[in-house]
Amino acid sequence: MAVIIEPWRIPPEGSHIEGEEPCDILDLGDTKEITPSGPIRYSLDLNLVTHELLVRGAVSAKVRFTCSRCADRFVRSVKDDAFFCERPVENLHATVDLTDELRETIILAFANFPVCRETCRGLCPVCGVNLNKESCGCKALEEEHWSAFSGLDRIEVKNGGTQTEKVKKSNPDAQKKRK
Ligand SMILES: [Zn+2]
Ligand SMILES: [Zn+2]
Repeated sequence: MAVIIEPWRIPPEGSHIEGEEPCDILDLGDTKEITPSGPIRYSLDLNLVTHELLVRGAVSAKVRFTCSRCADRFVRSVKDDAFFCERPVENLHATVDLTDELRETIILAFANFPVCRETCRGLCPVCGVNLNKESCGCKALEEEHWSAFSGLDRIEVKNGGTQTEKVKKSNPDAQKKRK
C-alpha cells in the first residue's frame, strides 16, 4: 500500500485528504523492540504552487515499544502534528508517492518514547524483578547498606559499579537477620 497523490485533481484553492494505511508501510525490518500496532493515519492539506506540491498536516500511528528500563511492552500513539513536505511536480499528470515521507516522520517520532512511563522503576539490578509490578528485598538492603555507609558520597556508590557487588555480599547476613 502507499499514499499516492494525483496532482491534477488538486483545485487552485487546495484540497484535503484523510485516510489510513496498513502499518506494513513502516517496514521496520527485523527489530522486535519497536513494532507497529495499528494503521498509519494521516490528515493532509495539499496545495499546488507553480511546480511544487506542498503537503502539510498530521500523521500518527500506534506503535508497540519495549521499555528500555523494565523491558515491558507498551503501546503508544506516535504523532507529528506539523508534518510538512514539498515535492517538485514536473508533470502534472504523474502521481506523487508520499509513503516514504510519512514513514520517516513516524520513525523520527519514535525517539520520544524510550520508557513506558516517566516514573518507570525498571528492573532490580540485583535480582531482576520488574519493580513496577513487585518489590524485592534488594531495595531495603540497598538502603541498609547506604545508612551503614552514610559518610560516603551516595552518588559515587551508585555510579561506581560496586553497588551490586556490595549488596550481594551483604545478602547472606541480611537474610540471616530476617530469619
Ligand atoms: Zn518501563
Ligand atoms: Zn531485587
